[in-house]
Amino acid sequence: MKSRWLIPLLFVFLPAVVTAADSDIALRGDTTQGGMVVGRVTPGTRVEFEGRNLRISPQGWFVIGLNRDQSPNAVLRITAHDGSRREQIVNVKARKYDIQRIDGLPAAKVSPSAKDLERINKENALIGAARLVDSGIAGFLSDFQWPVAGRISGVYGSQRILNGKPKRPHYGVDIAAPSGTPVRAPAPGRVTLVHPDMFYSGATVNIDHGHGVSSIFIHMSEILVVEGQDVDKGEVIGKVGASGRATGPHLHWGMNWFKARLDPALLVGEMPKS
Ligand SMILES: [Zn+2]
Repeated sequence: MKSRWLIPLLFVFLPAVVTAADSDIALRGDTTQGGMVVGRVTPGTRVEFEGRNLRISPQGWFVIGLNRDQSPNAVLRITAHDGSRREQIVNVKARKYDIQRIDGLPAAKVSPSAKDLERINKENALIGAARLVDSGIAGFLSDFQWPVAGRISGVYGSQRILNGKPKRPHYGVDIAAPSGTPVRAPAPGRVTLVHPDMFYSGATVNIDHGHGVSSIFIHMSEILVVEGQDVDKGEVIGKVGASGRATGPHLHWGMNWFKARLDPALLVGEMPKS
């Protein structure tokens, strides 16, 4: 009479198997290098990523950012309400970046003076501090939109190797647009940095979208917000320009999750017609 027990036993064990798979946190977003990924847990759960204890919203939302060169097996360390711990692997897709090798260049003649270098370091410290803000703002949960419409003239992650020396990769997306074109907040947030004239980035605005996610907009011709101001998605924050070290009018839009550099293009759809 064994078969009489087999079917009820299957029913007992099947749901247990399904529950085990279900206990993985569902992740929303591109699990690729430069991607921003949102997850949700029962409030009271602790989640750690890359050595950081993640802020969990009252509704259980958290966000992580994957760096340009993020290793393929990133790990979420989860501590449940009852103290039980487990790990969840995030399989990160590797990307191919646009790498340009240029050899035989004459040795660089122009490097910043000591005075400029001092200024650059100060400005970088301001940007760095703005990127470390870990606020409860929930702007990162919004759909993102392009801050301006135009031709994409520079992509995330690209890098030039000059005379065998790798230069700093391009951490953002460049959108060519006429000077004076309004720049709109891609998602809700709070303005955490306004600087009228940085050495490299010119007129600069940083927006905090919450939980360590931020956007930076540089090379603008005009800034129309102040520090501490809350902005809605689509609100005009400034105008396209070529301030700082820029070869022509364009908007550089960079995104961060704390120090990790994200690719804004992964968060928005097709470029709208300008
Ligand atoms: Zn750029």
